[in-house]
Amino acid sequence: MSTPAKTRHTAQAGAVRDALERAGGFLSAQEVYDALRGDAQGAGLTTVYRQLQSLAARGVADVIVSPDGTTSYRYCRAPGTHHHHLVCRSCGRAEEVEGPAVEQWTSAVAEKFGYTEVNHTVEIFGLCPSCTR
Ligand SMILES: [Zn+2]
Ligand SMILES: [Zn+2]
Ligand SMILES: [Zn+2]
Repeated sequence: MSTPAKTRHTAQAGAVRDALERAGGFLSAQEVYDALRGDAQGAGLTTVYRQLQSLAARGVADVIVSPDGTTSYRYCRAPGTHHHHLVCRSCGRAEEVEGPAVEQWTSAVAEKFGYTEVNHTVEIFGLCPSCTR
């Protein structure tokens, strides 16, 4: 049995995911909140932030922290798989990329020092071809 609060929670989670999917690129929590304003589900900024974190934890959303410290989220085109991003710092376009050399290097380093359960975050920032022109 679902309570009304739970139903509203689920609807808001769906709205946050849809907003990300519609946007295509990376959005900050504030930008998602702005996109949802006027929406019937009208979630508060704190709720949006929590929903984004939960989507990220489930691998539905990609999270990147840009060099200026802003956290952005994007609907992931390769959910559930480990990958990295090549992000344009000018327009926000991003490519999903794999980094076999990085994976090998992190396991080798972890093994060398006897660490287990390691994870890593590697994002590459630059200017995409359109922004380079
Ligand atoms: Zn991704
Ligand atoms: Zn660009
Ligand atoms: Zn990796």
